[in-house]
Amino acid sequence: MVQPAPWDTDPEPLPVDSAPVPEYGRGSLADLLPTLAAGLGVPGMTAGITELTPADRNCVFLIDGLGWEQLRAHPQDAPFLSSLLGTSRGGTGRPITAGYPATTATSLASVGTGLPPGAHGLPGYTVRDPATGALMNQLRWQPWTAPAAWQPYPTVFQLAEQAGVHAAQVSSPTFANTPLTKVALSGGTFVGQLSGEDRMDSAAAQLAGADRALVYTYYSEVDGAGHRFGVDSDTWRGQLGHVDRLVQRLAEQLPPRSALYVTADHGMVDVPFDEEHRVDFDEDWELKAGVALLGGEGRARHVYAVPGARGDVLACWREVLGDRFWVASRDEAIEAGWFGPRIDDRVYDRIGDVVAAARDDVLLIASEREPKESAMVGNHGSMTPAEQFVPLLEVRT
Ligand SMILES: [Zn+2]
Repeated sequence: MVQPAPWDTDPEPLPVDSAPVPEYGRGSLADLLPTLAAGLGVPGMTAGITELTPADRNCVFLIDGLGWEQLRAHPQDAPFLSSLLGTSRGGTGRPITAGYPATTATSLASVGTGLPPGAHGLPGYTVRDPATGALMNQLRWQPWTAPAAWQPYPTVFQLAEQAGVHAAQVSSPTFANTPLTKVALSGGTFVGQLSGEDRMDSAAAQLAGADRALVYTYYSEVDGAGHRFGVDSDTWRGQLGHVDRLVQRLAEQLPPRSALYVTADHGMVDVPFDEEHRVDFDEDWELKAGVALLGGEGRARHVYAVPGARGDVLACWREVLGDRFWVASRDEAIEAGWFGPRIDDRVYDRIGDVVAAARDDVLLIASEREPKESAMVGNHGSMTPAEQFVPLLEVRT
């Protein structure tokens, strides 16, 4: 066999089964609330994260975009959170996995329903709605789609409330009635508070007001700073310092018999601004061939093929992206467990005919159809440790 010249060899496609699949069932975001609810005696809940011992009053504080690796890299900016990290610092903190894709809508649904994406059915930033054939944005819920049909399962908060546990969410008032809140984070009491400080104080009050409680609170701006300026920017580190003080504020107000769990929906990866790191779908006729719709986001793509082109699109994407992305057919990704151990029938066709997950610090942008997203510094979505590992930190009283 003639050996090709080195400059002729394309990198081998990455085997689908080499992707580090999230730890569904034992150490993923979807396991957190069921573990806490099981400890509170809520029927039907399974304690997947066996290392956790829930308290009577439990609070989950979700910090949007704060990955485990980014937190570990910035101890000076987050002295309180860092004191809760693993054994060398005396804390019990450990990483858990976000789930695939590592993106806010998917992760919030995993947290609130206690189900992996293949079951709750929000498997991406944008996915195709099989009923209309159009892309639907899962974060902004555009175009509007009946929430209860899209995600029919009860939330863990609803189940907890039915079992006599006080359930509450403390977040921005703008999220009070959104479809995403409805399908992912409803049940019990919603408390709208604009400032982070007020959210911490309200979360503590919600805990104190009941003997058994499951309270959720949220802060978004670490993610926003990462997208705009990158995870090592002054703005990002300023946000990290701010959220560090918020966590301490809440920790210091915890009533007796409480546990505070600090976690996140995903981490983040900074992607350099050059053609090597940012492949532009809109400029690449090979990648565009046979593609009807491009969904997902830069590091976690759902590709929907025109009828009959599925195999060609898969082959072409594998060849063009080489070892920079894990490129799987829908069935391969499902078989490998990317979306969880099972896929509900109504979810199957929401997943792309081809699913592409970034391995390195690369991005598949679409400069024309997604100008804003294509200009972001920090990005997330895939299965690399930087975006998949999120903290699970604990403070107890
Ligand atoms: Zn984000």
